[in-house]
Amino acid sequence: MMRLGLMGGTFNPPHNGHLHAARCALEDLQLDKVLFIPTNVPPHKQLPEGSATTAQRCEMVRLLAEGLPWAELCTVEVERGGPSYTIDTLRQLGAPGRELFLIIGTDMLLSFDQIWRCAEEICQRCTLVAYARDEGEQALLLEKAESIRRRFPADIRVMARPPVPVSSTQLRGGGDLSRLVPPAVAAYIRAHHLYDRTFA
Ligand code: ATP
Repeated sequence: MMRLGLMGGTFNPPHNGHLHAARCALEDLQLDKVLFIPTNVPPHKQLPEGSATTAQRCEMVRLLAEGLPWAELCTVEVERGGPSYTIDTLRQLGAPGRELFLIIGTDMLLSFDQIWRCAEEICQRCTLVAYARDEGEQALLLEKAESIRRRFPADIRVMARPPVPVSSTQLRGGGDLSRLVPPAVAAYIRAHHLYDRTFA
């Protein structure tokens, strides 16, 4: 059985928080591989003015994964086009001999049963692996996981790991690139003058 981790996101830009959650999941659940899946059009989130293009977001994810034998860019959502729903991706990537693990942060678990399309079917198709994005979120995550389980059968693992509190929003606002994103991604952002600013 291949244990495959999936991490979807806008990756605008990808950062050390994404990498941290993926790496933790790899260890915590003995995954064989993690696919990073950039959204085409995110259904619940508007890409702000001055965002990287889809091709640039993919390229940055490729750079993030480069040199990590367990990590890979997966472009199914971009190739599918239109709004990117996780359920469609799970239907597409599910296969005999493959066990799927969906890696998500606090914000995504909290909104999961509210706005995600086919939340119940998502839980039939994968295990949810949730990580806190910031200190003090653990209790909230556990409570949310329990309330989802009361509604439908779901395998949700709330993992206890010290968080790496960083967001793409913070980076676009001029966060410290060399501390918050891998070197290859930082170099790309600088070289392509992304996010309408000159980063230190
Ligand atoms: P933005 O600030 O633009 O909203 P973001 O930092 O939330 O972006 P996304 O690409 O939207 O990044 O996130 C993709 C996935 O990664 C989501 O499941 C999100 O919860 C998770 N994630 C993002 N940052 C972290 C972090 N620091 N720690 C753990 N998980 C994270």
